[in-house]
Amino acid sequence: DLPDSFPHAEVVVDLGAVRHNVRLLAARAAESGAATMAVVKADGYGHGAVPVAKAALEAGATWLGACSLAEALALRAAGITARVFSWLDLPEVDYAPGIVQNVDLSVSTAEQLARIAATARRVGLPARVHLKIDTGLSRSGCIPRDWPELVKAAAAEPDVEVVAIWSHLACADEPGHPSIDRQAERFRTAYEVAREAGLNPLRHIANSAAALSRPDLRFDLVRPGIAIYGLNPLPQREDLRPAMTFRSTVVLTKRIDAGESVSYGQTWTAPRDTTLALVPAGYADGVPRTLSGRMSVWLAGRRRPVVGRVCMDQLVVDCGDDEPAVGAEVILFGPGADGEPTAREWADEIGTIDYEIVTGMYRPRVPRRYL
Ligand code: PLP
Repeated sequence: DLPDSFPHAEVVVDLGAVRHNVRLLAARAAESGAATMAVVKADGYGHGAVPVAKAALEAGATWLGACSLAEALALRAAGITARVFSWLDLPEVDYAPGIVQNVDLSVSTAEQLARIAATARRVGLPARVHLKIDTGLSRSGCIPRDWPELVKAAAAEPDVEVVAIWSHLACADEPGHPSIDRQAERFRTAYEVAREAGLNPLRHIANSAAALSRPDLRFDLVRPGIAIYGLNPLPQREDLRPAMTFRSTVVLTKRIDAGESVSYGQTWTAPRDTTLALVPAGYADGVPRTLSGRMSVWLAGRRRPVVGRVCMDQLVVDCGDDEPAVGAEVILFGPGADGEPTAREWADEIGTIDYEIVTGMYRPRVPRRYL
């Protein structure tokens, strides 16, 4: 069909890069005796959950992490049989399909435990749960004061198998931040309490940053997300390969005279006669309008500035005295290896994180292609 055959802009995902990153993460985890859960929530951080999940499993991950039960069940619907863990749903969600399809569920409260257990009884299968302790992020999870009661209730619940206890770190991307050790300490205490209640659960707390930088926090399982996509959350260098490239094509070039202005608001005026290239990618395709006047693209062998405002469907590149071919490839962002802009540069420029840039590429208008 036309839109997919002739995309104005497209996201290219290098699954070889995903496999490289997962191999690296899984090898580090294995050094500490830990398994690897590849986090593929939010449609694989905008890269496509199912293709990334399959690549990650090929490369040594043995678990997958989803956010909602719906995301977990979408992996099952694609034929993926590996362990899948999901952790955030509305209170009224029906856990039955999750239990039937072997999805591990997170539990933060006694009420949730009771609902999951009741559902397990109804469907006649045990529910596999991971008890979440809130060690300091103050999102989901059981506060330490209520923890002993939750683990006791879970241990006494015949329809529930406690697979793991788990938590999530607030500042793992700032190595040395004192909250990391404080959270780890609370996590270790929570584990002791679970053991005293007769449980023998796995433990997992490490996101990408901790999985890479804190071997002592890998425990039994690590949950990297951003690093499997090749984006490095840490200040130090890591051998990660960004998997996503956002590209488009020159559809028109034209020569304008000095003094002519470009795009809405005429915010940029040519200081000299120059050649412009029109690129059919705009804010509806994922180019933040706030990058207007502050971005460049990789076109015909070098970076060139985007001039004037980014529009809904298009942007304009100043090529000076060069005349790129109509049909020439335009890289909006990519791994950066050839000098093209990166998702990280976009994020830094507009005051966000590269997580938001790549997950923001999850949009029906922009097809994804896989290498
Ligand atoms: N675990 C949980 C519960 C998460 O919400 C996330 C994502 O934020 C991750 C793991 C992966 O984190 P990161 O992408 O920083 O590796």
